Amino acid sequence: MTAIGALATSPLASALIAATLYTVTYLSFVRLLRYPRNWHLPSLPASLATVVLATFTVAQVAVSPDGLDLRALAVSAGFIVVMFVVIAAPAVDFIPGTSPVIGFLAKHGNYAGVCVLGPTLVIGYAVPNIKFQGVLAVALAIELAWFLRHRWTDRRRLYRLDDHDLLVLQTQAKGDPEGFAGKHGIRELVFPDSAGAGWLGCGKDTQPCPFNLHLKRLGLNTAPCCREHMRDLSFYVASCLEDMGAVHWIDGGTLLGAVREDGKLLGWEDDVDISVLLDGDVSWQALVAQVSEQGAQDGYFVDVFEKEGFIAISYDPPGYWPFRWERNRMRGEIRLDLVVFRHAVSHGQAVLERLLPKGTMPLTESGAYGVPREMVLPTSTIRFLGSNFACPNKPDAYLQVLYGDFKEVEYTYIDAAAAETRRQTDVTGIGRKTG
Ligand SMILES: [Zn+2]
Repeated sequence: MTAIGALATSPLASALIAATLYTVTYLSFVRLLRYPRNWHLPSLPASLATVVLATFTVAQVAVSPDGLDLRALAVSAGFIVVMFVVIAAPAVDFIPGTSPVIGFLAKHGNYAGVCVLGPTLVIGYAVPNIKFQGVLAVALAIELAWFLRHRWTDRRRLYRLDDHDLLVLQTQAKGDPEGFAGKHGIRELVFPDSAGAGWLGCGKDTQPCPFNLHLKRLGLNTAPCCREHMRDLSFYVASCLEDMGAVHWIDGGTLLGAVREDGKLLGWEDDVDISVLLDGDVSWQALVAQVSEQGAQDGYFVDVFEKEGFIAISYDPPGYWPFRWERNRMRGEIRLDLVVFRHAVSHGQAVLERLLPKGTMPLTESGAYGVPREMVLPTSTIRFLGSNFACPNKPDAYLQVLYGDFKEVEYTYIDAAAAETRRQTDVTGIGRKTG
């Protein structure tokens, strides 16, 4: 046997191959999590690729010239399944109505991986398979790096909660915000003095605040830091589109806030919606190229969903290769959805249509979702977040198509009990805030 042949079949080289396969499977899996994070089903090719990689990893661990090591097969397959459930929890928790178990794992997502590895290392010692031990070593390194990165960089700035934030907090907490923060693990909520509550806000260097918990489970307002970053994102994307000469308009809950809440974000806004028309020089390719390049340059993460026809632009900066997709393990996200519309004709009427459904927007002849063209074009402007933003020509009619009676407050995606408490606050409180 040649020296290279001997090296390739040596136990150490086999362990290294198993560790590399695990790393590649992990990277493929965290990339796959972009789908649940955006409420979509993972694409079949991407899912299959991850399954094949996981199978190769397990096969590398369990198969050797001596035959199949059944114990190593069971232990390595079980380990990957448990580990990946833990890793996926924060992204899956984005989908409304997920189970409390997922919520629990998401809450402890920064160190749950390290916790799983503790008992697994004992099993690794009991199963004397050097290839499995190679997988465990690299998994431990990845989980420790994930944990320590946030421990070192999570420096937050103190924000003031405004009167409405405090009113909603007091109501949801039934007058005991400190007890409420402790019970639900709201780490951002602090009580620096007897005067009231403060908020340790997120920034570019920290993980975003966990919206799912604060807004949807507990019925609180969007945190002041996140509101500030959403504002930044709205201005940034609108100015990119203006530079391109692209026809665009604020849409969905963002437009609802501008129209119904006097130019403010909805009280529990969790993303910003801007729509853009593909027309003339503004093709899908040109839009993607421009937004991706500019976003990378200015420190915004850009994720393109071509099949669904939208671009997700996030406030957090793009990560370094190869761990760019590890951001999908974060519990929160400050995001703007840039959805494309195209010109079309449906039932003899000129329409603008988009691929994904939105509210009660009707189906068009081609199977997309659309509105009459003159409802949007030529776009108008509306006061939003202290500035002028482009909006549909008939914003009230547009919102009517999306939400029916949009002046009626509807509590969407919020846990029933939290929504009910919030309803009482909003009826009697300072102004109506909802989505
Ligand atoms: Zn925040």
